[in-house]
Amino acid sequence: MARAYNFCAGPAALPDDVLIQAQEEMSDWRGVGTSVMEMSHRSKEFVSIANEATQDFRDLLSISDDYEVLFLQGGASAQFSMIPLNLLGDHSSADYVNTGQWSKKAIAEAKRYCDVNVVASSENENFSTVPSFEQWNLSKNAAYLHYTPNETIGGVEFDYIPEVDVPLVADYSSSILSGPLDVSKFGLIYAGAQKNIGPAGLTLVIVRKDLLGKAKDFTPAVFNYDVHAKASSMNNTPPTYSWYLAGLVFKWLKKQGGVSAIAEVNKRKASKLYSFIDESGFYGNPVEPRYRSGMNVPFTLADEALESVFLKKADEARLLNLAGHRSVGGMRASIYNAVPESAVDALIGFMANFEKEHG
Ligand SMILES: *Cc1c(COP(=O)(O)O)cnc(C)c1O
Repeated sequence: MARAYNFCAGPAALPDDVLIQAQEEMSDWRGVGTSVMEMSHRSKEFVSIANEATQDFRDLLSISDDYEVLFLQGGASAQFSMIPLNLLGDHSSADYVNTGQWSKKAIAEAKRYCDVNVVASSENENFSTVPSFEQWNLSKNAAYLHYTPNETIGGVEFDYIPEVDVPLVADYSSSILSGPLDVSKFGLIYAGAQKNIGPAGLTLVIVRKDLLGKAKDFTPAVFNYDVHAKASSMNNTPPTYSWYLAGLVFKWLKKQGGVSAIAEVNKRKASKLYSFIDESGFYGNPVEPRYRSGMNVPFTLADEALESVFLKKADEARLLNLAGHRSVGGMRASIYNAVPESAVDALIGFMANFEKEHG
């Protein structure tokens, strides 16, 4: 059977071309006689794969030499601890913005290590917006400010980068590489790979070099950025196959024209889906229009009782993984880079038909 359209929030769709290439190279990578999975991470072949992927990633986001790029394990969730462990230094507090479920998890972990000052929260608005920057209660002695530019569950995305005096730390798990990004505005950016980069098991960290070397004494070595930076992310065995696949995705993205070109496609995909939802009286999206996510589009049906029918019929139409996050329910279409415009067109067509039959 042909491949379905996959709207999964993560692990998410990968480009067809990448999977085909991986399949072709699976058992014998370019004449070496083994798969990438079976190579020593210290072999010259794997080191070349790793270096090329790293350089392509740097190229895509124009990352300067002031930053290290690390390929780590532990998911974005491990970063919730690594960030305070490595960046607090002599400070006893950090600033956090609370715009959704992922912000909350980052805050909960940080509380193990420091005083967390929640500078702003949209929890009272049911996480349907971004609190206005003018009203953020920034503290003077914070080690850094952490925020989540795209809340994957709520479908809320910042349309600006906050300007603060302390290092800016951002969880870009679900929107990295969806468009251009001025990395120089950040102290640290991190992203789990399984949304917009590659398979699960890999987390990318972009960290400004002057922030390294301040980890707490009790920081485990595998949680220490400096240790990983000095070892080119090979202090211990990195997730080699995920790193390789991420490299194929970076090449694919370069071939599409890079982040500016994919941003145009992403804009078209999101705006036609939101327009369709807004124009229908049957579907709804609760997020303040200015802050609607370009990657994750939650939506509700007029009648909740129809949700299971909707999902079943969507599955039959080969439109997969449209259920909302278990914590919020409803529907959610994740339309990452690797989800083609034709998938969004097919989804809109399906939704229009469903409305005709059940509206
Ligand atoms: C998926 C996601 C996470 C969690 O990633 P794990 O790799 O499962 O730890 C954290 N933050 C955001 C914004 C996410 O989308």
